[in-house]
This record gives sequence, C-alpha cells and structure tokens, in this order.
Amino acid sequence: MCTFTASKEKKMSKRYTITAALPYTNGPIHIGHLAGVYVPADIYARYKRLTGNDVAFICGSDEHGVPITIKAKKEGVTPQQIVDRYHKIIKDSFEVFGITFDNYSRTSAKIHHDTASEFFKTLYDKNEFVEEVSEQLYDAEANQFLADRFVVGTCPKCGNEESYGDQCENCGTSHNATDLINPKSAITGNVPTLKETKHWFLPLNKHEQFLKDWILEGHKKDWKPNVYGQVKSWIDDGLRPRAVTRDLDWGIPVPVPGGEGKVLYVWFDAPIGYISATKEWAAREGKDWEPYWKDEDTKLVHFIGKDNIVFHCIIFPAMLKAEGSYILPDNVPANEFLNLEGNKLSTSKNWAVWLPEYLQDFPDKQDVLRYALTANAPETKDNDFTWKDFQARNNNELVAIFGNFINRVVVLTNKYYNGIVPTPSDFSTIDEETLAAIKAYPSVLESSIERYRFREASQELMNLARLGNKYLADEEPWKLVKTDEDRTKTIMFVALQIASALATLSEPFLPFTSTKLKNILNLSSEELQTSWSEITSKEILLPANHTIGKAELLFSKIEDSEIQAQLDKLEASKKANEAANKVVEPQKDTITFDDFTKLDLRVGTILEAEKMPKAKKLLVLKVDTGIDVRTIVSGIAESFTAEEVVGKKVTVLVNLAPRALRGVESEGMILMTETPEGKLVFVNPDDTTIGNGLQIS
Ligand SMILES: [Zn+2]
Repeated sequence: MCTFTASKEKKMSKRYTITAALPYTNGPIHIGHLAGVYVPADIYARYKRLTGNDVAFICGSDEHGVPITIKAKKEGVTPQQIVDRYHKIIKDSFEVFGITFDNYSRTSAKIHHDTASEFFKTLYDKNEFVEEVSEQLYDAEANQFLADRFVVGTCPKCGNEESYGDQCENCGTSHNATDLINPKSAITGNVPTLKETKHWFLPLNKHEQFLKDWILEGHKKDWKPNVYGQVKSWIDDGLRPRAVTRDLDWGIPVPVPGGEGKVLYVWFDAPIGYISATKEWAAREGKDWEPYWKDEDTKLVHFIGKDNIVFHCIIFPAMLKAEGSYILPDNVPANEFLNLEGNKLSTSKNWAVWLPEYLQDFPDKQDVLRYALTANAPETKDNDFTWKDFQARNNNELVAIFGNFINRVVVLTNKYYNGIVPTPSDFSTIDEETLAAIKAYPSVLESSIERYRFREASQELMNLARLGNKYLADEEPWKLVKTDEDRTKTIMFVALQIASALATLSEPFLPFTSTKLKNILNLSSEELQTSWSEITSKEILLPANHTIGKAELLFSKIEDSEIQAQLDKLEASKKANEAANKVVEPQKDTITFDDFTKLDLRVGTILEAEKMPKAKKLLVLKVDTGIDVRTIVSGIAESFTAEEVVGKKVTVLVNLAPRALRGVESEGMILMTETPEGKLVFVNPDDTTIGNGLQIS
C-alpha cells in the first residue's frame, strides 16, 4: 500500500526505480532535454549503481498524442512513420551520450498497449472514473473533436493567448479544453462549436485530501521548492475531474464498452510507459518486475522537466493511488528550463542545439557537453547556455585543471619511473592531509547527489582535480627529482592516488573520460578497480609497482573559431526564422489597365552619383534615359553607395511630375522593390536590352 508520510532518506534502501521523462517522438532532442532531465538522471543512476544498489533506469519514446498526428498530416505520412523515424534518432542520441538506460522502450509497443489497457480496466472496474456525456469543442469542417493541441485559446489562469487545450506552456497549468477563452481550431482556424460526446474522467477532486497529506504534509522538506511550490498552488486552487480519454484514432483504444473510436489521453498512457518498460526489461533479464513498482522498500524517482510537474505529481500519483497496488514516487526532482544564448529554446524557431548536429561538430566531446550542462544546470531557476561558457568550461576546467593534472602525473611517472608506481617513504603532513582529503570525496559528492544538486557535485569533482594540481604545484617534484629521490617518489605516489580516485569518482559525470583514464592508469583488471566506497575504506588505491600506461590527452582545447561557427549557425537560424515570419505587405487596390499605360517606363543608365549632403538616405543621380540626361534624387543611400550604382542599367519612370528634394529638382523615379527577405533591389532591365524604352502594348 501507499505511504502517506514523509519517507526519510533510507540508507538501507537498495532497490531504485529511476525514470526519465519519456521524450515526445515528433523531433530529435536538444541540449535543453539533456540538461533538464537525462544527464542528471544518468548521473544519479550511475552513482546508485556504483554504490552497490539494484537499479532499474527506465525510459522510452512517448509515441501517442495530437502533435504526432498533426506532423504526420503535414508530411503526408502515417503517425507510425513519424514515431519510427524519431524513436531511432532519439535512442541513438542517448546511446552516444552515454545515457545508461536499462531499458529504452516505446509506447507503441504491444506490452505497453496491454499494460495501459489493463490499468484503465482496473480503474474502470473499481469505479474510479466518472463516465460523462458532455459538450466538447468540435471543428465541423475538419470533422474532429478539438482537445489538447488541436485547439488554442486564452489560458483562464494567466491570460496567455496561445494556451493549448490541455496545458498552458506559459504558466504550466493543466486544464480542460472547454476552459479556454476564445478557443480556435488549430487545424482550420475556425471557432469551434460544441458537440456531445462521452468520456471518462479521473475525479482529481476525490484525491485532493490524499495529495495534500502525501505531498503538502509529507514532502515539504525533501522535494525541491520549485516542484513543491507548483504542486501546492494547484492543490490550493482546487482540483477538478480531468478527462482521460479522447476522440482520436491514434493511441491506445479505450478498452471498455462505449469506448469505440476513442483512445486514452496521451498523458494517461505515457507515465504507465515507465511500468511497461520495466516489465519489458525484467522479462528480458529474467527478473520479476513487480518489486520495482510495488515493494515499499523500492525508491521511485521521476526525473522530469518543469512542464511535466502536474502530470507526475498530481495525475499519475492519483492514478497509482486509485489502482491501489503501486508505490508512489519518493521524489520528483524537476528542473527548470535551459535557455540558449539568452532566448527560450524553441523547436519551431529552430533555436536549439540538436544532439545529432552537436555530434557532427564535436564528435568526441560528449563529456564536454555533459559537463557544461551539469555545471550550469537549471536546477533552481531557468538558466542560460552560451557557447562562450561551454568553451570556458572545456578550456579552463576540463583541459586546464582535470586534464592538466592527469597529464602531468602520467607523463612524470613515465619519465621518472618508466610508468611504474613508485614506493613512497615517510608521508609529510601535507601528504597525510591530501590522502585524507581523497577519502572524504565520496561522501562530499554523495551529499550533493542525494539532494539532487548535480551542479554542486560536478564542482566538487573538479575540486578534487584542483587539489591534485595544487599539490603538484606546491610540492614541485620536477625540481626535487634532481636532489631528493625519496621525496619525489612519495609525491608521485600521492598524486597517483588522486588520479585513481578521479577515475572512479568521475564516472557518473564524465563516463567516457573515466573509461579513458582507467585505461591510461591500466586499471583493467578487477582487483585494481577501486569502487566508490573503497576510495574511503582502502588504504591504498593504486599500489606501488603497478605499471600505468602512456600519457594520452583526456581533453583538447576548443578554439574561438569553433565557437564562432556555432554562433554563426544560430545567427543564420535566427535570420531564416525572421524571414519566414516576415509579414508580406498586402496587395494594394486594383488599378485599371488605363492607369497602368499612363506610366512611361524607360531603360536608363546611371552616369553619375553622389550623396546628398546631410541626407542619410538620398543619392543624387545623373541618368541617361535615352531621351535626355536628367537629375533624379533616389532614396537608396542606405542600401547602395554612390560608387556601386554608377554604370548600372535601371528602369526609370520618366513622366513622374518633377519635385524638389532638399532644393534639388528630381525629374523621375528609379524603380526599386524588396525581396521577400526585405532586401532593396533594382528592377533591373535585362543586360542585353538596349534601346530607349520598355514597350507597353
Ligand atoms: Zn497559463
């Protein structure tokens, strides 16, 4: 049964079910997803495994819901084709970035359809739903009920005019489509009508007291303040029944009488995906899945982004509670959003760093991105990713501190002792302090990780490398090697202990670097590997006489030009987006053919040009029109210099009434127009056109 009281940190708990938000399968993933959910979840899962726990780290593609059907319609393909495409891209990205899911499943899998159906039926049989025929928004032209992303309107809570039917992305509130003010169909733009249809509602109001006791009383202290605050505000506003079925044909069919032609709401089926993915994994591994979801001793942790808080802290727990046999999450450490170079990450505006593109530009730098995103993670507030910071994290921390320390230790050990770990003699006070400091690091990191402060933890890891650098700089073995052989050996021995600790402790944060470092230190055999807890308990981490390998750079400098290339890419994407969104001037009123024939257009050549004094926009031109040479004042000086227009063939309106501009009489007009991108261009007569006029016949 469910716990209603605060579960204090249980040191004895050995089984962990760790879930990461199911990515929605209508596009690849970007750095915001990685920073907000997958990197912290992976650090946590790796750390839990390293400290000897039984871990199920679960994720999968969320493949139902309206946006996928909209995208499929746009591209003229089936929803299945859309999800097949992106499931593969997303899964590959996770693998390449070293996200160690025990299972990455998908919600279109049969095991998920079966699990979600069964879950729904159980709640139905227990009378946990309210079945109701009600009037729902309907687009008659599209022959479609308008729920979720099929409808856009004003959020009743915050006034955002672009709220979706099920959730407002501005304030995070989850609501029913009929709550929207001024709703509009996202398919046709029509104002919807109301039409009767039957749906099943989860009466959240019925679970209000339980949620109050469990979260507001029980998790006030251990949940992150941003998560707790959001949940509290929703509960304080009062919870209402939420429809958990939809009139759609893409999704999991409603498995009860009267459910024909309807599917489960995507946010009803998606979190059940964690359960079905666990079942799939357990079957493959020959394990029993149930303890991971039903044993009180299991600690369930959901890693999510802040836009998913309502679903993981209110709706899913209410479902689990209603079902009755499941445990509830121990924590839901949601992150805030990551921005990019000062602007909100946006798929539609292509303002993002997509993982597949990042890998093309930085093929061996997965750890650098993991580190930069962790060191600057949006844990307590929205945060900004900048390429300059990314470069600084790499050059000033990973290269200059971590990489530099390891390189010095390995190079010197090879140079002085042919790579053999030297035997130390008496330890000095500073040696003793340094060795004691190493032993303290596991619990320092642990304390941060257990509180979901991965940013802090990543800085503590860097502090251990800093300690190593400082130790070498203070002790200067490269000077002592000429005068004091014993002391040099002792210093190198201590430095090698730090290197060995870094190889283990860096694994959750920098897994590729950790592997590389273990290889450099030649720690392939079991007995040489130091576990997380052994760093504290073992007397010696890297014994004397062990032979390490050759030096190899762990990190390499990122040049300014590489950063500029990324900034240029973003600038190009911004320009393309602005051009796409540029409002094209509407067509002017119709004129008659007779009006048109009044215009006398000639091909002319610009003979001379000069800037009009004290006028930013004006050039004074001498133009040969074929009839005469005349003066024309043209407002093009901001787009063209005088030099570049001389000799140009242009189209001239010669019978425009003359007028004086700044005291110069202008006798005609050079025809110009704008490209769709907003660039001013000449209406250029064909270069081969010679003669004195355009014929209008
Ligand atoms: Zn809102």
